[in-house]
Amino acid sequence: MIYFDSAASYPVLPEVLNCLTTSFESLYGNSTAIHSKGNEANEAINATRGDIADLIGSYDSEIIFTSGATESNNIAFKSILLGNPEFKEKRHIVTSSIEHKCVLVICAFFKTIGFEITYVKPNNDGIITKDAIDQSIRPDTALVSIMHVNNELGTINPIEEIGALCFSKSVLFHVDAAQSFLKLPIDVDDMNIDLLSISAHKVGGPKGIGAVYIRDLRKRHLEPVIHGAGQEEGLRGGTVAAPLIRAFGVAVQQFPKYYGKLKKNNLKHYFISKLIPTNVEYIINGQSESTLLSICSITLPQIDVSLLIRATESRFCLAQGSACSSQEIEPSHVLTAIGLSNEHANKTLRLSFSHFNSTEEIDLFISDLLEI
Ligand SMILES: *Cc1c(COP(=O)(O)O)cnc(C)c1O
Repeated sequence: MIYFDSAASYPVLPEVLNCLTTSFESLYGNSTAIHSKGNEANEAINATRGDIADLIGSYDSEIIFTSGATESNNIAFKSILLGNPEFKEKRHIVTSSIEHKCVLVICAFFKTIGFEITYVKPNNDGIITKDAIDQSIRPDTALVSIMHVNNELGTINPIEEIGALCFSKSVLFHVDAAQSFLKLPIDVDDMNIDLLSISAHKVGGPKGIGAVYIRDLRKRHLEPVIHGAGQEEGLRGGTVAAPLIRAFGVAVQQFPKYYGKLKKNNLKHYFISKLIPTNVEYIINGQSESTLLSICSITLPQIDVSLLIRATESRFCLAQGSACSSQEIEPSHVLTAIGLSNEHANKTLRLSFSHFNSTEEIDLFISDLLEI
């Protein structure tokens, strides 16, 4: 099976797999227990916490483990905004119309409890500009939430500029960095980020583990999102998943090496260079300077893309739009936001590569494409 869907979930790295086997075997203590097995789990958890904090330039105490970026996004919004007297009068949120579905659904929830939401539109390259955010911030804006890299297009938003703007206006800034973590540099101070969401399975780690960074976590009024026995600073109760967290730590250490290889292979460039001499009509979406090499959103106006996906499903794993919405009939909200017609949106494929992919695999895909 040829897998071109690393943006939905990156294949597990071999070192991570190794670590998972040994961790589930030996790291069975509950990290709150006072015996040696408890300490061992606690140390593993805090080692990964330290590694993540170092990478993003935060304090260890500002990192909370979650089940993934969806939960991180929920905690970022809810722990800060719910039940906080500071935001009693500030009930406006700025986000974009191309956020991950989970952020849009969280915002829809906040609307039901009296918040107003402004959905900033991207420019035609799929980028959320600082100016667009600037025009949307109001005196009662509590939070700006913008993704670092878009999961359907691979476009990179100007997070540092938006962060500086939010800082100058004293508005909290949340960044969904599920697609950018370990692929682009992130420094929460340089970028003025107050809240940041990441996920292990987007960087070759296991599913079911992620983290959220919360600036000045211990000094803030934060509402628990999972009420429990006080784990993770009381924000997210439940026995902490030490084996998954140790494996997340291994992914954090190993992924950059593999990503370097992926960048060197530059399969996106190879794919496009192989398409040019064919007479297949195509449009690359979100084609700006500012795009990740691992994601390629391509519209094929003359091809029945649903048919292509079905006809090749025994050989290729491909995404139409994004994975989370590919079961739906609705065209992708991201593609329509950058101006694609419903018809073109439904004729769009997202190829996302991992370091396991090769030029031979691209050749095979192109020959299938030519047969349709
Ligand atoms: C994958 C993804 C998520 C969801 O992450 P999970 O860990 O699967 O919950 C959120 N935001 C973006 C941008 C993503 O790519």
